[in-house]
Amino acid sequence: MQRSGPVDGTPAEAEVFTTVLTSGPIARADIARLTGLSSAAVTRVAKLLIDEGYLEYAPGEPAASDETRMGRPSSPLRVHADQTGSFGVIVRRDELIGMVCDLAGGPRVAERRPLTDNRVEPAVAAVAAFYRDLAASAQRLGFVDPPAHLGLSLSGDIDHDTGYVRYSPFLGWRDVDLGAAVSRAVAAPVVVENDVKALTVAEQWFGLGRGITNFAVVTIGTGIGCAIVVDGGLVRGAHSVAGEIGHLPLGDPAVQCHCGAHGCVEAEASTKALLDRCRAATGRDDLTIGAAVELARAGDDGVRAIFSRAGQVIGLALASVANLLGPERVIVAGEGVSSYDLFETAIREAFAEQAFGAAHQVPIHVRDLPFEEWARGAAAVAIQELVFPSRQRVANDMRRRTGVRRG
Ligand SMILES: [Zn+2]
Repeated sequence: MQRSGPVDGTPAEAEVFTTVLTSGPIARADIARLTGLSSAAVTRVAKLLIDEGYLEYAPGEPAASDETRMGRPSSPLRVHADQTGSFGVIVRRDELIGMVCDLAGGPRVAERRPLTDNRVEPAVAAVAAFYRDLAASAQRLGFVDPPAHLGLSLSGDIDHDTGYVRYSPFLGWRDVDLGAAVSRAVAAPVVVENDVKALTVAEQWFGLGRGITNFAVVTIGTGIGCAIVVDGGLVRGAHSVAGEIGHLPLGDPAVQCHCGAHGCVEAEASTKALLDRCRAATGRDDLTIGAAVELARAGDDGVRAIFSRAGQVIGLALASVANLLGPERVIVAGEGVSSYDLFETAIREAFAEQAFGAAHQVPIHVRDLPFEEWARGAAAVAIQELVFPSRQRVANDMRRRTGVRRG
């Protein structure tokens, strides 16, 4: 059945813009087919987005399907990339990675700079200075409207709707009104998102999540993170904490996690947990994670066993995601994939043992994504905020209040 107007509270503008962005150039008839919106609704919304400068007609031949389905020829649509853009910055413990993207999410400028003092106030000042430099670079790119929106991502328990950081363990931040502080410092709209969720938006728009409606991204490294897309929508959950598989109790219940709970995946499989164990096993307090990886690859049985145990716990976490959500694929990313060879066998064995029924068949894709791709995700979140700002919030609030689900 074709629908017109908002789809279960999701604005049609968001559906049309995102479809053109991920599948364009695309004919309006094909947008209607992919979104389930009526042809009339697509035409109305496309006109609105063209008038706002966000979409444009692609040069070239009229799309055949538009001729047949709508009775008149029209060019396919694409995102007007040069209309404007956005900034994405990921805040890591000791580094800021920033990107300027055009409206289609195309990377235009990428930069890194050290974060020498990661306490809240100096970090906000460093982000603001970085933003001003990125904005100066963006000025030279010839956008119709200079980009202003900033997407900021960091690990931890982040309330996307308010920009409030409840807890970011690797920065040591608790209860920080980050969105408001950065927004004041840069005098521009700022949206804050959990780093894995932002990366997942980039995967959905440009990566292995393109064209599929159910998938999960699991990150291994400093933390064990996860974000989930169900029926085409990023699942944030009631308090924006959906997907925290790092704190599923699948590990040794005797081991306490930094979060205070016991048996968390992260307490055995994060980089720090691995390093602590490798140091204890070798008696070398100065061991680095790189040296531990080398020892394991050189055949040190004790160190290999520690990586293998971490792989087992990660495999159980992946199986939990597969059993709970039945994704079409699971994408594994994060800096830990550089030593994936040390986890792989244990991950596969634990996954095969614990995945139930058809969940066995869920393919696991390992992706070595640089942090620029994470920053691109933050820029993508800022594009969402730019193109469908409060409407998205209203939809989220409505869904939360009424428990309405899509699909
Ligand atoms: Zn925990």
